[in-house]
Amino acid sequence: MQPASDARTRTLDACFLGPYGENDALLEKLVVEFLRDHVYWRRNFHPEDPPAISTTAAQHPDYQAFEARMRRELHQLSAALKKSVPFHSPRYIGHMASDLLLPGLAAQILTLPYNPNNVSEDAAPVTVELEVKVGLQLAGMLGYVNDPQRADCAFGHLTSGGTLANYQALRLALAQKAFPVALLAAGVPDLAMPEDVWSAFNLHPHAATALVDAWQQWLAQATPAERRRWQARVQGERIEQRGLAGFFAAHPTLKVPKVLAPITAHYSWSKGCKLLGLGRSQLELLPERGMRIDVDALDATLERCLRERQPVLMAVAVMGTTEYGTVDPIDAAVAARERFAARGLGFAVHVDAAWGGYLATLFRSADGSLRAREDVAAGFAHFPSPEVYSAIAALGDTDSVTVDPHKLGYLPYGAGAFICRDHRAVALLSEEADYVFHGAAPKDYMGRYRSLGQFIPEGSKSGATVAGVYVTHKVLPLDHAHFGQLPAQTIRAAEAFHARALRFADELREVVRAVVPFAPDSNLVCFALNPAGNRSAAVANAFVRRLHDELRVDTSRPLQDKQFFGSVTTLRPEALGETETRRILDALDLDPATLAEDGGDRLVILRHTLMNPYLIDHENGISYIDRYFEHLGARVRALLAAGN
Ligand SMILES: *Cc1c(COP(=O)(O)O)cnc(C)c1O
Repeated sequence: MQPASDARTRTLDACFLGPYGENDALLEKLVVEFLRDHVYWRRNFHPEDPPAISTTAAQHPDYQAFEARMRRELHQLSAALKKSVPFHSPRYIGHMASDLLLPGLAAQILTLPYNPNNVSEDAAPVTVELEVKVGLQLAGMLGYVNDPQRADCAFGHLTSGGTLANYQALRLALAQKAFPVALLAAGVPDLAMPEDVWSAFNLHPHAATALVDAWQQWLAQATPAERRRWQARVQGERIEQRGLAGFFAAHPTLKVPKVLAPITAHYSWSKGCKLLGLGRSQLELLPERGMRIDVDALDATLERCLRERQPVLMAVAVMGTTEYGTVDPIDAAVAARERFAARGLGFAVHVDAAWGGYLATLFRSADGSLRAREDVAAGFAHFPSPEVYSAIAALGDTDSVTVDPHKLGYLPYGAGAFICRDHRAVALLSEEADYVFHGAAPKDYMGRYRSLGQFIPEGSKSGATVAGVYVTHKVLPLDHAHFGQLPAQTIRAAEAFHARALRFADELREVVRAVVPFAPDSNLVCFALNPAGNRSAAVANAFVRRLHDELRVDTSRPLQDKQFFGSVTTLRPEALGETETRRILDALDLDPATLAEDGGDRLVILRHTLMNPYLIDHENGISYIDRYFEHLGARVRALLAAGN
């Protein structure tokens, strides 16, 4: 091993509790130290107040009975939890979960007894500010402006997860799209206004933000009476006030806008469209080519929308699809936004990077600049492909992004994030129309987000989660040299896994046809299998499902019975495109005509998420990747021998 990679391994050694609980002493020390620290804080609040619970209370039978009940229940819970999924183990390569970063876990545990509520500064004087800072940290990782002194600084906040962050993206895009229409309808004087309702509803997102800004400046110079009058008048025209029905009834030439997303998009997009009242039918799923959004199809759809005067709310590009880890051409979506906005069809570009967001750390230098592709590529066999590089390099030009710290951020659940490019747009989400004004002067950046509850979809919200994310980003800054070591490791693991899969396919070619259906863009690797000689997709699907039965959670059996945990997904011709489908079926020696026979018109394949930091155990010279393929080979032979 070269010294460089040795140094890398050493830092990572302190990052996690470890598969064997190796860092138990460290975590225990931290938890006890900060629990005591919390207790001293209580005692030092008003030391003149005497203890309210007597020192002899613990001898009372009621106390003892309560304690006994509590202990019994806690032991039962603890025992039941032993059936949990062993996310921490390098034998777990199923879904998007792994070990937890110690700085985040410790920060969260230490914050819990303070119980801050990030709904507002009143309930969380410390952690609300940390949440706004987390937004800036993530903005920097994505390439957005993250200097709060700048007028066009980005803004981000945490959500319960990617689902709610995607919903926030829809909500903000709709507010931005409809607001210029409200201004126009209210007839606000002195503002440079779009000439008609269609253009007002189709501004480039940058122009829409500029209009919000101009409106606020106009209000700031108006007299208090005028300000109130105009605010009320504009508010009455807004979509948030009238509702979808009232707004579109008032503007009968406008249709309800569509959301364009790739067919592999997460189902949170369907939920979001329903929740916002747009309706599921406004979500138009675009075909893909090679598991990425088909740029020609996007173009053709936008052309059709323009022709039919069908407004588009946003185009969604996915950075790291949930099922395949593929990265959509974000750069092409941005280019389409520019072209079509110039022709009168304005829409926002949102990146759903719930899974892949933290891969962006690999592309950032410590000073925040974008690294060159050669520099990013050093140390990898294939990553990043030119397409992936161009896509991720374009993140800073998008309008908003979803990132899940509880996925590739290795943090406990309840941590998603929404980040938008220019914070001035966020004023439209405020529950209080004149929140900006204390007197007449707008508050500063930090000041304005101290009442977070005004802008976020939730109300009360855990400040402890925020503390975990913040501290993690401070201990491991979001650039390639720090946090980037983690995604770098998962990419190397995925490349090793891919290479080993190809060797498996070669070694077992007499018994099974095995194919990596497409080279992975990131750290998810899929594997398709078909018993040698079989031509039927239905038979191949049944075979892969049997294999997966060995690889999935089964609470009726002891956990230790399982050698490995994996997951499955499917390949659908409408996502692959005809050429790719044929190529993969050919490679598997399957008859395309049999695909429809299995009911679903889809091929079941194994899916592996390679985010565990210990897949290659350097300490003991063990590759869990090799062991997995040995296990898989044995299972394949056993199933075939049993006549499956
Ligand atoms: C996981 C995921 C989501 C949903 O995020 P939750 O945190 O589960 O709510 C959305 N989009 C993508 C691409 C995802 O991978």
